[in-house]
Amino acid sequence: MVADADPQCGRPQVAQLAEHGSGDVVTFGIDSPEVALDAVEHATDANFCTCGGLLSYEHAYMGHVGVWRCEECGRTRGTLDVRATDVTIGDESTTFTLFAGETSFPVTLPVTGLYTVYNALAAYTTADALGLAFDDPGAELAAVGPVFGRQERMMVDGREIRLLLAKNPIGLNEVLRALRAADQPPRIVMFLNDGIADGRDISWVYDADLEQLAGRTELVIASGTRADELALRLDLAGMTPDETLSDTQRAVDAGLAATPPGGRLDLVLTYTAMLEVREALARRTTTAQYWETTP
Ligand SMILES: [Zn+2]
Repeated sequence: MVADADPQCGRPQVAQLAEHGSGDVVTFGIDSPEVALDAVEHATDANFCTCGGLLSYEHAYMGHVGVWRCEECGRTRGTLDVRATDVTIGDESTTFTLFAGETSFPVTLPVTGLYTVYNALAAYTTADALGLAFDDPGAELAAVGPVFGRQERMMVDGREIRLLLAKNPIGLNEVLRALRAADQPPRIVMFLNDGIADGRDISWVYDADLEQLAGRTELVIASGTRADELALRLDLAGMTPDETLSDTQRAVDAGLAATPPGGRLDLVLTYTAMLEVREALARRTTTAQYWETTP
């Protein structure tokens, strides 16, 4: 089973593994030009084919993922056995139509972002390839909610807090795209940590297109162990933070204080910041710690 490009492993070369597969190969991907980017992102991880030729794109969906072809050898993404069309990225959900052979059905995922479509396609394709039976695959996909810091939501003091993990440029770009889909300009606290699990080198924030949210936010607070550097990056992107607070709890409290009852505060966090903030929030809410939950 091979995606049109693997968003985790990061290159169309993964799709080219199909050339060497000895078993059945099932391909999946997105076929929805309406969510294509205007151009390939700066943060793309792969510019070249396995032959060394330059990749060009009919549609770039995120990073290097999209409808690609090699100008040198003529390799292309190829046909998709399982595909998503008519993708709409909403503020808190994502809709598309899944086509697989003679089957097609609408899907509404309770999470936002183009990468969630790839996750859903991968899950469906794997289950189908294994011969698992579906009663209602659209409903079953819709029942898979957010998990552990990935668009997880909590109620704190009458405000909704949403945790959006972002730990690399492509992931952050997709989070920003989802925030742009909000009906109202979002209130955001961003956290940049440089722990071992985050990567000590924080220069990756310059590869992310933070500029896409400039002028579209109600509130921006910079936090984390590298709050000052994040504040500089935000300033250069045209999003000068309203506050810069390295202390994560103070930053969350400042964000909550600026959020009216019933409103939503979005926390965009690197990995260790997510662990720290989530644990502190879980103590203030009824949210279980992850080791207390059952999959
Ligand atoms: Zn090539």
